[in-house]
Amino acid sequence: MAINEAKYQEIKDELREGICLVAVSKTKPADDIMALYELGQRDFGENYVQELVDKQSQLPGDIHWHFIGHLQSNKVKYIAPFVHLVHGVDSPKLLAEINKQAIKNGRVIDVLLQIHIATEETKFGMDEYELMALIDDIVQAPDKYAGVRIRGLMGMASFSDNLEQVRNEFRLLKRLYDAVRSRALNTAQIQPDTLSMGMSGDYRIAIDEGSNMVRIGSLLFGARG
Ligand SMILES: *Cc1c(COP(=O)(O)O)cnc(C)c1O
Repeated sequence: MAINEAKYQEIKDELREGICLVAVSKTKPADDIMALYELGQRDFGENYVQELVDKQSQLPGDIHWHFIGHLQSNKVKYIAPFVHLVHGVDSPKLLAEINKQAIKNGRVIDVLLQIHIATEETKFGMDEYELMALIDDIVQAPDKYAGVRIRGLMGMASFSDNLEQVRNEFRLLKRLYDAVRSRALNTAQIQPDTLSMGMSGDYRIAIDEGSNMVRIGSLLFGARG
């Protein structure tokens, strides 16, 4: 059992009321998830569809499974029956597929739109223009999106020692989140209350800048091999 229980308690104590901890369990065995579950943790994050499906079938039914990786449209159907929150929605096409699969399953699926805030080319996400165009489309044609509910934004800061840069990237994401909130009042499909930002290396900065959902893996489960 490789989980760091002391660190878990420390992080839980540190998080203010209203900040959700998503324990990122990708690549880690079901036993490690159960160990945290027994301490009361219910929100877990996974990056790979097959791994998530396997774990979901073995583990308790009251776990909230967050999909935090890059989701391919052709795999949405595997997680649509049970996923709690999809963090990385980065295109209208992916949103349309989630909507379709949600309706098939008689559900409304909660999603976060992923915004590209880092300097690295490899990180996925929409820019400000694409975000606002999508929000406007949903506001104008809500019936097209009856199977999804936009709960907020998600982003990953640059992997960098330059903490001022990381802070500025989180600040940008918070500004866009506030813009979405003010633009989408009274829309059933857009109910933004979640700003998912911050990982093991930068969650304190993220919270300082307004995050209310942090995704923490290695501090809890140890480094990934
Ligand atoms: C792996 C991952 C995390 C957790 O990273 P740690 O540095 O281990 O805390 C958070 N968010 C996303 C999107 C990830 O892929």
